[in-house]
Amino acid sequence: MDKLNRFIKYVQIDTQSDDTTGTTPSTEKQKNLGYLLVHELLELGLEDAHMDEFGNVYGHLPGKGSRIGLNAHMDTALEVTGANVKPHLVRNYLGGTIKLANGLKMDPKQFPILNKHIGHDLVITDGNTLLGADDKAGIAIIMNVLQYFHDHPEEKHSTICVCFTVDEEIGEGPLHFNYREMNAKYAYTIDGSAIDKIECENFNAYSASIIIQGVSIHPGEGKGKLLNAINLASEFISYLPKETPYESEDKQGFYHINSLNGNSEVASINMILRDFKDKGINKRIDTVKAVVAKMNKLYPEASFEVTFKKQYVNMRKYVDKKPMAIRRAKEALKKNGVEPSLGAIRGGTDGATFSKNGLITPNLGTGSYNHHGRCEFLDVQEFEKMIDVVIDLVR
Ligand SMILES: [Zn+2]
Repeated sequence: MDKLNRFIKYVQIDTQSDDTTGTTPSTEKQKNLGYLLVHELLELGLEDAHMDEFGNVYGHLPGKGSRIGLNAHMDTALEVTGANVKPHLVRNYLGGTIKLANGLKMDPKQFPILNKHIGHDLVITDGNTLLGADDKAGIAIIMNVLQYFHDHPEEKHSTICVCFTVDEEIGEGPLHFNYREMNAKYAYTIDGSAIDKIECENFNAYSASIIIQGVSIHPGEGKGKLLNAINLASEFISYLPKETPYESEDKQGFYHINSLNGNSEVASINMILRDFKDKGINKRIDTVKAVVAKMNKLYPEASFEVTFKKQYVNMRKYVDKKPMAIRRAKEALKKNGVEPSLGAIRGGTDGATFSKNGLITPNLGTGSYNHHGRCEFLDVQEFEKMIDVVIDLVR
């Protein structure tokens, strides 16, 4: 239970990030965990452990052989509060519905994933917060690995390059990431769910923002003149292919409208485009451009303007060039009796950007599930298994 105590300690520190502040870290409170981690890293013999001005924590445990990076993020998701997390331990989950303290239920009908964890101990929330296993389980796994080598100085290991980042949940983990400081040959984010998964593929991601200028006039005199920006926006949406997150799974991409705001004169649409293939994402960009052109042609008195922003790219082609990271992860999992499977993330990780910038960084599991919600939980046995896996990864 010692190993779990670290996790329990970290989740009780509120580190929720915020995408509206424009600062790094986006919230000062992320540093509270950062300071604690620096202190613990120093105690574990990582003599250079420190936090930089952006709140990122770095430290190295010198060893022999490759320099292997381990990364986890300190912030928690925006959807649900991370303040006053009260973790509860369910020993030997027997299946069926789990009632959370506030009356909320975790029902296997809604979350069939629960059925895979029968017989294991689970850490759950009290229903009022998220758990924050995303990604404090990753942090706790890394810290337990360092604890192991601290307790077993006779065991040989690679040079372990640790970095805990801020603001992953707002997509800004790599923004001020210092590759030179990390100084790893390749790395792993420990930020996934199922522990058999090695995730080395993710979406290509763009956002698109569309400004729609309608034509405003007294509705009584509107005939042939009034072009309602909201109606134009909804017509625009109706011309997009019916490929939304609701219709797509596995390797299928999508168009997703994040927001639609405005009034009859001016409206704006914020949307995201996702596709695993380079060709596919370019096609989606062209499709949005084509619909914009169509609307401008149909309604020359109104105007549609679109701006695209690249968010992240699929790491697969970079990872494939340096297969060592994947090979090593596969071996470590197998050694611990876990049959590895390569997975694709229907999203992105900091590792996607790290990989594009030359630091190959696939993602490994933590044994935690239902991230970003009140029904988030940690499978204790899987979490402990992952500590052993990562020990072998750097051994
Ligand atoms: Zn995460």
